Amino acid sequence: MLEIRDLFKSYENKPLLRGISFSVSQGETICLLGASGSGKSTLLRMIAGLEFPESGQILFNKIDLAQTPPHARDFGLVFQDYGLFPHLNIFDNIAFGLKMKALESSSLLLGMSRQQAVGLQSRVAEMLELVNLQGFEKRKVTDLSGGEQQRVALARALAPSPRLLMFDEPLGALDKSLKEDLLNQIRAILHKTKIPAIYVTHDQDEAFTIADRILFLHDGEIIRDGMPDEVWTNPKSAWAARMLGMGNVIEGRMQKAEGRRWKVKTSFGVFNVKCEHKHSVDEKVSLLLKQSPSPVFGRGARGEGDEIKLKVEDVLFKQDQLQVKLRGGLVIHLKEAPKVGQIIRVKVQVECLA
Ligand code: ADP
Ligand code: MG
Repeated sequence: MLEIRDLFKSYENKPLLRGISFSVSQGETICLLGASGSGKSTLLRMIAGLEFPESGQILFNKIDLAQTPPHARDFGLVFQDYGLFPHLNIFDNIAFGLKMKALESSSLLLGMSRQQAVGLQSRVAEMLELVNLQGFEKRKVTDLSGGEQQRVALARALAPSPRLLMFDEPLGALDKSLKEDLLNQIRAILHKTKIPAIYVTHDQDEAFTIADRILFLHDGEIIRDGMPDEVWTNPKSAWAARMLGMGNVIEGRMQKAEGRRWKVKTSFGVFNVKCEHKHSVDEKVSLLLKQSPSPVFGRGARGEGDEIKLKVEDVLFKQDQLQVKLRGGLVIHLKEAPKVGQIIRVKVQVECLA
């Protein structure tokens, strides 16, 4: 369906996006996860045709869109700030794209026929039902809550049956419970309509809820592209691990190799780590410390994996678990609360992030 090939973009001679390539297939939702300022919105604007790449191609069904103006691309966009027309009521907001489409095919030049008007009304009603806002046609935009406005924006984007939907941090302005609700609704609608979608966010929770595939945008490049479970079990880079909220990323220095296993010196001790990548002695690396499924604290805890012994600095309640902060910035999760100041031993699995 959508194919992005080797896209480059810079602003004021500073490269922002470098060699971006990916594709989105029918019915697929991909999520582009990147920090603020990483170029996510710029990338969406280029796909929408509102901005131009310096080089590279954007194709849809194998047709290059370089000469296709934004409205003719048939792509729907949903923004963080909703982007509704405040002077139009809900009906006219949702009907807007449909009318534009009819105008283009010049079927509206002589005014709308009765049949067209009825068609428009039923399409708007259908869209409002899809986003759970039945009967909202006559309401004013300003009378709606943020969550409702975003659902109208979604209905407006869906109304002309776009070939692709793009979401630019659509939940950024909403509070947590509303976010979850709307995210689940978007997910259900995308599954139902099977419209391919690109969802842009800096929030890993959102990414994992909505995505069939997650792409990490960092330093102008896509550094990881995979299914949510693949990405979660093997983030492959320190940046991706941190972006996923895996806090236990530590620095180390390579000491000695035995086959593919390296002894890595860190401020938490020396770990014996199996690495996929090529390394040299003295090289600096990032390691991910994963807490073993059943951490043991107290004396005499020994077993598989490596062990660390650290002082407890703080204990916080997090849903059904306790979040235990250890000296040196490590965080683990336990069912039983240790005492602050207590030394605990935790078994960890150590992975090399290169
Ligand atoms: P994101 O959506 O990931 O937060 P953006 O695509 O909005 O990132 O912006 C990425 C960078 O490009 C920012 O540093 C921004 O200042 C810069 N930028 C965006 N648009 C322009 C523009 N029209 N002119 C100059 N710089 C821009
Ligand atoms: Mg943005």
